[in-house]
Amino acid sequence: MTIPELDFLKSLTVLYVEDDPDIHARLDFFLKRHVGTLLVAHDGAEGARVWTERQPDIVITDILMPTMDGLAMTRQIRERDEEIPIIVTTAYNDEEFFMRSIDLGIDRYVLKPTDPATLHRALSHCARSLWRRREKETADRYVRFVLDIQPNLLLVTGNGQLEYINQAFLNFLGFPSRERFLASGIPLESLMQTRAGLPLSGVGEPKAWVQTLLQTAQEDSILFLRRPDQDDPGPIPFAVTFNALPDLKKHIFSFADVTHLEKEKQELEMKAFTDSLTGICNRARLQAILNTELRRAHRHDLPLSVVMCDIDHFKKINDVYGHQAGDDVLRHMVGIMRVNIRAEDLLARWGGEEFMVVSPQSDLESTRLLAEKLRALVERSAFPAVGGITCSFGVAEREPGDTIRTLTERADKALYAAKTGGRNRVEIQMSIRDDAGAPTHAAPPASPG
Ligand code: GH3
Ligand code: MG
Ligand code: MG
Repeated sequence: MTIPELDFLKSLTVLYVEDDPDIHARLDFFLKRHVGTLLVAHDGAEGARVWTERQPDIVITDILMPTMDGLAMTRQIRERDEEIPIIVTTAYNDEEFFMRSIDLGIDRYVLKPTDPATLHRALSHCARSLWRRREKETADRYVRFVLDIQPNLLLVTGNGQLEYINQAFLNFLGFPSRERFLASGIPLESLMQTRAGLPLSGVGEPKAWVQTLLQTAQEDSILFLRRPDQDDPGPIPFAVTFNALPDLKKHIFSFADVTHLEKEKQELEMKAFTDSLTGICNRARLQAILNTELRRAHRHDLPLSVVMCDIDHFKKINDVYGHQAGDDVLRHMVGIMRVNIRAEDLLARWGGEEFMVVSPQSDLESTRLLAEKLRALVERSAFPAVGGITCSFGVAEREPGDTIRTLTERADKALYAAKTGGRNRVEIQMSIRDDAGAPTHAAPPASPG
C-alpha cells in the first residue's frame, strides 16, 4: 500500500460487529490504531442500526451472533448499498457458506481466530478499492463540472447510448436537472431532426440515432433541436461538432446555436435567387425549378409548358423615356403577369426585358391561351409615363427527351417567330410528334424586325 492509501485508511470509518467480548477487547485496540473511526456493535441487529445511523466506509462482521447473524445483517446492508466493502471473520470454511456469502457480495474473509496482520491485509485491500472508486468518482465529478460550465450544449454518448447531457443542454430543454429530464421519459433523439426534417429517432434500431448523429455531424453539421414544452418555438438550427474519445467508444457532441447564421444564409440565398428589380425569381432559380419540374413531368409523363415573353421595342422606351421609366415598365409588367397566372405557375425574369412562365401540368393549347390572355392584358394596360406597350410570346410544350435547353430553345424559336410575324402576338413551336401527323412548326422567320 502506498502512503496516500495508508493515510486514506486512517481517514475511514469502520464498523466492527462481533459478539464475543474477548475478541472485541483484543481487536478493537488494534483496529483503532489503523482506521480513522472505529464503530463497534455486538450483534447483527445492532450492526445494522449503527450502519444506518453512521454510514461507515467498511464493515467487518462475525457470522454467528445472537439476535441477527452476520449474513442476515449483510443482506440488509447490501439491499441498500451494493458497494460498501464487507469483510467477514469466520470459523466456517465449508462450501455452502462460501456460496451464500458470494451471493451477498462479501469482499474478503478472515478465518478465526483472527490474526491482526491478516485482518490488516483485508482492510488494506478494501481501502485500496475504495480509494480507486473515490478517485474515479472525483474524476467523474470533475469532468461533469467541466461539461456543465460550458456554454455550448454538450452530450456524451457511449456504446450507442446517451451517457451525459450537460447543464446548458438541460437549460435549453427546459429541465432543472438531469434527473427530471430522465424522469420525463422523453427520448432525446425524438427532439432532434436533420435539415431534411427527418427525426433522429425512428431510424432503424434504438441505438441507430447516435450513428445518424455522427453522420450528420460529419456531413452536414447542421441539426435542428426542439424543446419538448408547450411554447416550443419550432426547430432551432445548431452546428454539431464531435470528438471521439479514443479507446472508450465514447463521443462528445457539441451543439452551437446558429439561428442567426441560418437566417443570414436564407437571406443570402433569397438574394441570390431573386431578381432585384422586380422581386420575382431570377434565371438561376428558374432553371433549378424548371429542372425539378421537367424531371417530374418526364417521370410521370405529365404535360409541362413554358412561355417566353419579350417586350416589343423596349429599347425605344429606354431611349425616349429614359432608363428609369424602362425599369418602371418592367416592374409594371411583372405586376400584371404575376396576378394573371395560376398559383402553380412560376414567373421569372429570364434577362433584360424577357420573362418566362413555367406552367406545370399544362398542355400547349392551354398555355397558348394563357399567353394570349397575358398578351391582351399587357396591350390593354396603361403603363404610367410611357402609355402602352406590347409583348411577343413564344410557347413550347415538353416532349419526351427534352432538356431545359431543348425546351427553352423551342419556346425561343416561337418567340422569334412572333417577333418576325409582326410582334404583339403568340406563336407556338411544335416539333414532329409521332401521334401528331404532319409537323406543325411555326412559320420560319422572314426577317427579324
Ligand atoms: P424587340 O421588339 O425586337 O424585342 O426590340 P427591343 O428593343 O425590345 O430589343 P433589344 O434586345 O434590342 O433591346 C432590349 C433593351 O432592353 C436593351 C436594354 O438596354 C434594355 N434593358 C435590358 N435590361 C434592362 C433593365 O433592367 N432596365 C431597363 N430600363 N432596360 C433594360
Ligand atoms: Mg424586346
Ligand atoms: Mg430582348
